[in-house]
Amino acid sequence: MEDVWKDISEMNSDLIGCEKCPRLVTFRKEVAKRDKKFRGQEYWSRPVPGYGDISGRLLIVGLAPAATGGNRTGRVFTGDKSSDFLVSCLFEAGITNQPTSVSRGDGLVYIDSYITAAVKCVPPDNKPTMDEIKNCMPYLIFEVKQMKNLKVVLALGKIAFDSVLDVLRSFGTNTKGMKFVHGNVYDTGTFKLVPSYHPSPRNVNTGKLKREDFVSLLQKVKALISE
Ligand code: SF4
Repeated sequence: MEDVWKDISEMNSDLIGCEKCPRLVTFRKEVAKRDKKFRGQEYWSRPVPGYGDISGRLLIVGLAPAATGGNRTGRVFTGDKSSDFLVSCLFEAGITNQPTSVSRGDGLVYIDSYITAAVKCVPPDNKPTMDEIKNCMPYLIFEVKQMKNLKVVLALGKIAFDSVLDVLRSFGTNTKGMKFVHGNVYDTGTFKLVPSYHPSPRNVNTGKLKREDFVSLLQKVKALISE
């Protein structure tokens, strides 16, 4: 089937005006009014596009923008606790040029890599419905297709991992046997797929995702890019 968009800029122009999921259209605006920490700041409150080098060899896929992170700042994995942890680890592994991600225009560069989310709008309790994930799938499929040099996909959390499997199935790939197991490497025939626990405060604070283990996984991912 022919693509709707000619390139990633054209897709993002459509994306930021997307209103396919009524629940999320309401929530992405409402959540700004509830927030006390950043009261007075203008929130992005729209779908959040991916960020980084679309011609890179690594794709990182998260779940969805955080309420006071991507939904506030307008950049994926920016300005919240998950981003603090993720980007500091990416920096240690040589995947970003700096250890912080606080706002658009802060100079953050993803080296040879691009980051996005399976669902582009913040969902209540970080739980998108199956319909919302399905509605957003064409954007993720197009992002993957636009990554012409793609070698490795790092999926952060089970929803991101399952969404990447859906992308693969849309290409006609047999994904049988690919299960969410942190740190496994699957050769999909198109790219290597690596599932990881999501770098959310819940996983980090409980020790499920330890900093040294995550950095070591990111170093492994980086090595896979060059294989
Ligand atoms: S989640 Fe995706 S499909 Fe739904 S409104 Fe946001 S951008 Fe559109």
